[in-house]
Amino acid sequence: MFTVAVLAPSMVLAWLAVRSLRDQQFLLERQEAMLWQNVVDSKAIQAQQLLGEAQRAFAVHLAAVLRDAEPASAATQFDALLRSRWDLAQVGFVVDLDGRILSPERSARPEARLFLDDNNRFLGNRETAEVYYNNKMLANNAQQAAAPYSSSVFQEKQAAPPKTDADNRGQFSRQSQARNVVPLQQLQISKDTQPQTSKITVSEAEFRQLIGQDREGLLARFVDNKLNVLLWRRPEESPRLVFGAQLSVPKLVNLLQPLVASDEGPLGKEICLAFLDDNARPVALSRPGFQASWKRPFVASEIGEALPHWEVAAYLVNPARLAQSALTLKWTLGLLIAVLILAIGVGSWLIIADLNRHLRLARQKTDFVSNVSHELKTPLTSIRMFSELLADRRVQDPAKQVAYLGIIHSEAARLTRLINNVLDFARLERGEKKYHFQECDLAALVRETAEAYRPHLEANGFDFELDLPAVPMPAEGDRDALAQVLVNLLSNAEKYSGAKKKIRVELRSHEQPVPYAEVAVLDRGLGVPAGSEKKIFEQFYRAHDSLSSGIQGSGLGLTLARQIARAHGGDVVHAPRQGGGSVFSIRLPLIRKQP
Ligand code: ADP
Repeated sequence: MFTVAVLAPSMVLAWLAVRSLRDQQFLLERQEAMLWQNVVDSKAIQAQQLLGEAQRAFAVHLAAVLRDAEPASAATQFDALLRSRWDLAQVGFVVDLDGRILSPERSARPEARLFLDDNNRFLGNRETAEVYYNNKMLANNAQQAAAPYSSSVFQEKQAAPPKTDADNRGQFSRQSQARNVVPLQQLQISKDTQPQTSKITVSEAEFRQLIGQDREGLLARFVDNKLNVLLWRRPEESPRLVFGAQLSVPKLVNLLQPLVASDEGPLGKEICLAFLDDNARPVALSRPGFQASWKRPFVASEIGEALPHWEVAAYLVNPARLAQSALTLKWTLGLLIAVLILAIGVGSWLIIADLNRHLRLARQKTDFVSNVSHELKTPLTSIRMFSELLADRRVQDPAKQVAYLGIIHSEAARLTRLINNVLDFARLERGEKKYHFQECDLAALVRETAEAYRPHLEANGFDFELDLPAVPMPAEGDRDALAQVLVNLLSNAEKYSGAKKKIRVELRSHEQPVPYAEVAVLDRGLGVPAGSEKKIFEQFYRAHDSLSSGIQGSGLGLTLARQIARAHGGDVVHAPRQGGGSVFSIRLPLIRKQP
C-alpha cells in the first residue's frame, strides 16, 4: 500500500526530474535566444523605420526643390539641387516614363558618372536587373511610424485597389536566396548546416515595370557587388517624371550606428550587437573592437529588402557563460533532487520502521491479553477448587485445612500482584502513577518483603537465603513501590528457576561513583537467552513465552520494576550469574547524613 501510494509516485517524479536536468542547457539557451531575438528584431524594425524616415525626408526635400526652382531646371539640375540640401543623397536623378535620364549629367563628378554607368540601362528600361523591392513595407512603415507625415499620395494609394501592382509586377519572377549568416540558435533547432533561406526575395525587372502605378518607393540592387539604395518619387505636379536619390551607404551606416551604440546597461554587458553588411562584415558595433566569428551570431534578424542581406546580429560576449550557468543550474537542481530522494528514502525507512514497531506492539498486546487471562485463570481455579473443598467440609484434617488455606492465600497474593502490575502499568502509561516518597531503611524493607515471600518459596521447595547488613541503609523512596519491585524480581526468580530451586537475596552498599545500595536477587535457573538481555525490559516482551516454556507471565514485571527504580533515581539491571542462572539487581541512591 505504502509502496503504491507514496514510494512509486515519488520515484517516478524523481526520474522525471533527473530527465529534465539533461535539457537544462538547451532550455536556458532557448530562453536567452528568445530574449535576444526580440532585441535584434526590434533593431531590424528600427533600421527599417530609419529608411522610412529617409524616404519621407526625400519627399520633403523634393517638394522644397520643386517649390524653389523653375520646373525645367528642377529636373535637369536635380542632382546638384538635392545634394545641396540633403547630404544623405549621393546622387539625385530624374528619369521620365520613356526612360530618358534628365539628371544627373555625365559631368566630371565621379559619383554621377559611376551612377550613370551602373543604372543607365536599367533606369532607361533597356535591361532588366535583379532588384530588391518592397515599396509596401516602407509605405506601411511610414504610415505606422509617423502618421502625420503621410502625404496625400499615400492616402490615394491606400484607397486605390492593388490591381495595378499585380498587373505590372505579376509577370516578373521573385526568387528566394540563401542567408549569409547562420544563427547558432537556428542551427541547434534545425540540426542541419544548410544555409538558411532568406525571407527577402529578389525580383528580375525593368525600372518601369517595377514602379508600375506607384507614387514612390525604394529599391536596392547590387552592381558589381556594391549595394545601391535608390529612393524615388513621382510628384503630383509632374507625374510623368520620376525623381530619385541614390543614398550614400557610408552615411546610412552613420545613421544606423546609434541604434546599436545606444545599447548600454545590462544588455551591453552580455551581448554585442552588430549591423552586418551583405558580406557579413560588421559595419556598426555596440562594443567597439569586439571580435567574433561574424557569420555565426547567436541570433540574427534580416533588415529587409531595403538593405538586402544586411542583418542585425547579436553575439554572446562570453559564450561559455551560458554553459556555465546551465552547469551550475544542473548541479543545484541535481543536488536538490538527490536531497529530495534521500529525504524520501529516509522518510520511507522511518515510516516502515515505525509501522513494524506498531505491528510488533500490536502483536505483543494480543499476546499480553491472552497471557494475562491465563495468569488470572490459574490462581482463580486453585482458589475456587480449594475454597469449595473447605466450604463443603470434605477436608477434615486440620493440617490439610491449613495447607489449603495457605494455597488460597498465596494464589490470591499472586492475583493481587498481577492485577497491581497491570494497574500500575496503565497508570505509568498515562503518566498518572504517584509515588509517596519518604525516608526509609532499605535493609528493613528488603527483610520484611523477603521474609513475607519466604513461606511461599519454601512451601514450593526453594532454598532461600537472605544476606543483609546489620546496619540500616537510609534511602528516599516509596515503600510499597520498592516492595513491588523486589517481589516482581523474586517472583521471576521463582518462575524461571527450573529444577535448581535456590534463590539468594543480597543487599550491599557502594560508595562510588555516588553512595548507592544494590539489592541483588540471584537464582540458578534458566538464565536469560542470549540476545534478549535488553529486550526483557521492554513492555510485553517475554523471552520464555508461555507456549514453549509453559511459564505464565505478562511481560510487564521487569518493565515496571525498571520504571519504578528509575523514578527513584536508580535502575534495575540484569547480569548472567557465574555457574548458571541470573542476577537481577535494584540500584537505589542512599542518603548519607553529615555527622
Ligand atoms: P513475565 O511476566 O514474562 O515474567 P517480566 O517482564 O517479568 O515478564 O520478564 C520478562 C522476561 O524476562 C520473562 O518473560 C523472561 O523471559 C525473562 N526473565 C525475567 N526474569 C528472569 C529470570 N530470573 N531468569 C530468566 N529469565 C528471566
